[in-house]
Amino acid sequence: MLNIVLFGPPGSGKGTQAQNIIEKYKLVHLSTGDMLRAEIAGQTELGLEAKKLMDKGELVPDSVVIGMIENKLAGNKEAKGFVFDGFPRTVAQASALDDLLEKYGNPIKVVLSLVVSEEELTRRILERGKTSGRADDQNESIVRNRVVEYRTKTEPLASFYAAQSKLVNIAGEGSIEEIFAALSAEINKHS
Ligand code: ADP
Repeated sequence: MLNIVLFGPPGSGKGTQAQNIIEKYKLVHLSTGDMLRAEIAGQTELGLEAKKLMDKGELVPDSVVIGMIENKLAGNKEAKGFVFDGFPRTVAQASALDDLLEKYGNPIKVVLSLVVSEEELTRRILERGKTSGRADDQNESIVRNRVVEYRTKTEPLASFYAAQSKLVNIAGEGSIEEIFAALSAEINKHS
């Protein structure tokens, strides 16, 4: 089984590249951001609670996203592997994911970290905000808060995965095709 974590700050291209990866390697895409937005669209209680935090650029509680991931893993037993996008975002989420995958006997093979400069991230997100309809993409102070959340809570995960010898840095600036080629070269070492 091929389990991959796509890691990187908001706007680093995880969603775009996750789509390319799942098509090429026939894996299942698990994006907690997409799952949360589906809950918001469905106006569920979970969605309404999550929206309040997402609109401020804050993370939703670990228990919420861990529960959603657990359901998806249980519901996709036949999958050839998963691409985790936007999850894990905290050390607690990463430990929970390791525990869940251990139950299935299929640990994470590789963590691909997309490296993009701060100026480029802000530019991309505000550009995406013009068409994505996402409130959290349209306001510069919310975008800044997401980057702060990333730096304080998510970036420490890089050392968590480096300690497991799973972290690989990939230059996340350049054309989508170039970046996908670099990601594929790394994935091929594990598939
Ligand atoms: P981006 O990577 O561009 O910030 P996402 O769609 O991954 O976009 O996430 C949007 C928002 O959803 C985040 O700012 C956060 O509020 C919430 N979110 C998504 N995934 C998680 C997670 N794993 N843990 C906590 N909050 C999350």
